[in-house]
Amino acid sequence: MTSSLDSSLLLFSPDDEVLEQVKVDIGFQNLSQDWDSYMDPVEHPLKEHQLSELEPAPAEAKEEPTPPAQKQVSVQPVANSVPVLDGWPGVHQFQVTVRRRPEQAGRQLPYVYSADGAKLYTDMMVAVPFSFTYSGVADPSALRIRALPIYRESHHIQTPVRRCAIHREPQDPSNDTGHMMHVVRADHHHASYHVEQERCSVTVPLEAPEPGTDHYQVLFKFACMNTCVGGINRRRLMLVLTLEERASGRTLGRQAVEVKVCRCPHRDWRADEKRKGSEQAQPKASKRPRREPSPPPPSNGQQQLYVVADDPAMYRYLVEARESLLRYRRSVLAEQAPPAPLSRQDTAPVKPEYR
Ligand SMILES: [Zn+2]
Repeated sequence: MTSSLDSSLLLFSPDDEVLEQVKVDIGFQNLSQDWDSYMDPVEHPLKEHQLSELEPAPAEAKEEPTPPAQKQVSVQPVANSVPVLDGWPGVHQFQVTVRRRPEQAGRQLPYVYSADGAKLYTDMMVAVPFSFTYSGVADPSALRIRALPIYRESHHIQTPVRRCAIHREPQDPSNDTGHMMHVVRADHHHASYHVEQERCSVTVPLEAPEPGTDHYQVLFKFACMNTCVGGINRRRLMLVLTLEERASGRTLGRQAVEVKVCRCPHRDWRADEKRKGSEQAQPKASKRPRREPSPPPPSNGQQQLYVVADDPAMYRYLVEARESLLRYRRSVLAEQAPPAPLSRQDTAPVKPEYR
């Protein structure tokens, strides 16, 4: 977010002139405010209404039917920086998680959240409850939460996350409430949808936790699958959640959650857990296997077997047992036939083999 009004930073350059004219028409130049906060519908509901008649919205925003409760806000100047994924609780200890709702305990939900990997597996257009915790905020209404989808890999991170052509169709059930270009939707009466440098994001005002709870909950939905061709196209998807000052857009905290939008969230979660488990077990499996002594080839028609002793006491015990058995065998043979000399191998002591 920037307060710069440099028209070179604005998107949709063909509309720059019109936009500048809009600013003149509404007297924006006379205000000591940045364009972003001026466009905030919660802060300036009347101005937003004025703008809806004047604003040269981009073609994609015009296509979307605007539901009564959720207005489309777009065309904002943004600094061209690489999105940041690093978690940062900031001064307000901003944290996010996905909780299982108590009434759904025991039922298989259409989403799974892996807390240790901060990864959500969800079906498309399922309302997933994100829980936000924060502290030390005197006036929550001065802050808001922004949800911005980005690609995780650095070679895709600069590419805006767009919907696929199929789900973008106006007839698609996911577009009943408008916002056809937005992969991430918020089930919130005061959600605002933004398009900045072709990046779609949604903001919701920060609110105090409901009495008896320690967190503020917002429902987010995802309107494309990770596998959508021409859309996410199997790239790793992250949802960056930032705590912002509404007036200035200044970031006060940030957390990121990886999201996999898929038909079988539980199956994919189990597959990932299994793979993680086998990867953790891999170093053990790759350790040198215990060497089992193989029986040596038979000599003089007699098979020789070996026993491994792992300490000197066991070795001495085994040698004694062996000598005792040999003595027994000699006595039996002496009774059955004339004495025959034992082979040298029979009398050789067991070779010590310590481990
Ligand atoms: Zn799609």
